[in-house]
Amino acid sequence: ARAELMAAIAGWQNQDARHHLHPFTDPALMDQVPPFIIDSAAGMYVGGQGVRLLDAMGGLGCVNIGYGRPDMADIAADTIRTLSYYHCFSAASNPYAAELAARIAALAPGALNHVFFANSGSEANETLLKMIRLYWSRKGQPERRAIISRDYSYHGSTMATTVLNGQQAMIAPFGLSPADMDVHHVMAPFWYRHGGDLNAEQFADQAIAAVAGKIDALGPETVAAVFAEPVQATAGVIIPPDAYLPRLAELCRMHGILLVADEVVCGFGRTGAWFAQETFGFEADMMTLAKGLSSAYAPISAAVVSDAVLDVIKGTEREVFQHGFTTSAHPVMAALALKNIDILAQEDLVKRTRDSIGPYFASKLKELENRPLVGEVRATGLMAGVEIAKNKTTREQYLLDMAVCDKVSQACLMRGVIVRPVGNAIVICPPLIIQRGEVDYIVRAMGEALEEVS
Ligand code: PLP
Repeated sequence: ARAELMAAIAGWQNQDARHHLHPFTDPALMDQVPPFIIDSAAGMYVGGQGVRLLDAMGGLGCVNIGYGRPDMADIAADTIRTLSYYHCFSAASNPYAAELAARIAALAPGALNHVFFANSGSEANETLLKMIRLYWSRKGQPERRAIISRDYSYHGSTMATTVLNGQQAMIAPFGLSPADMDVHHVMAPFWYRHGGDLNAEQFADQAIAAVAGKIDALGPETVAAVFAEPVQATAGVIIPPDAYLPRLAELCRMHGILLVADEVVCGFGRTGAWFAQETFGFEADMMTLAKGLSSAYAPISAAVVSDAVLDVIKGTEREVFQHGFTTSAHPVMAALALKNIDILAQEDLVKRTRDSIGPYFASKLKELENRPLVGEVRATGLMAGVEIAKNKTTREQYLLDMAVCDKVSQACLMRGVIVRPVGNAIVICPPLIIQRGEVDYIVRAMGEALEEVS
């Protein structure tokens, strides 16, 4: 049986190397390094090539309820039998989409009550970029086109969302420039990298002053929106100082600028609340959701707007919103998202992230600050970034930081734990069902890995 399995794996690797183009991967490398074939997953673990790995990344920070749940499989099968598909264009809808939209509106902060469904986080942000144009045009201020985004941010991979990203390496290869979409980047609230000797409060002042300065330089009457991930996960889990997000919301309100909370990673319990806006005490005019919305049982995302935004978009003249996807509000995907939300609620996964397992996770990971290579451990809820530094005191980085981060994550993998190297950090975003023993195991593996690589 073992020989048969190994032969099957070799076959898939061969097919994959020849024909499968992977996201965010060097295609030339695929010929040289055979892909690791993952063929099963359950709970906190994924299985492949004869081994079982503890997935401390929950896929890409998305598998909030854990893998392979039979109750989710049943919902998918039942819904396919009842209504495998019908679109929601024009006036059609389905029970699952209707219920899901209402559920999201009930959970969402304040006036965020109107939900557009798409298939990925990128599409949800792309949808908002178009809605923002529509909003300002209907409001009679079409000159408001500038979008402010932050350094290190990640908002997606479509043509327009690519330029929102605060990492040149993702933009330049495509001959794109933020100027193409009137996008302007400002400093991120990344204290470890940019805070110097400032305390949290002083650094919040500085980071807010950077946004205010950009608004003034552009002219407030030309600024349409600010995009912000409450916690910048893809950049190594950048957690802003407490005052930053409420003050950003206040600044936007003062100038009538729309604030978009990209909750693609943060939403659905990741920070210990349904949405990070609750954790950090602010309210946006628009937000995007994906990942934890279905725990990646389905490709579904949502762009949510406030009552006030919808009122403007509705306008006074009758005009169709010229935007949508064939599979927007797909009944099977919506049914899976609904069941996922039921599970998060019934199993108290959000509250335990805030009150018990989250604080335990943070305190255990903090112990890694005593290990070599660790500049800082940042954690909120069940997301953490372990910043790798060459010199802990001066915060000097390795010139080839990625290589060091890669080595640490490889050393974790050798101990049966999946973590993710990004930027200068190792990211950990486990399923919210994680138990204390698994936290201990991850921290032990990380500790040993850091000693080994140092
Ligand atoms: N926004 C944030 C904050 C993300 O982290 C991601 C993906 O990692 C996206 C948007 C894009 O989502 P997707 O990969 O589903 O298009």
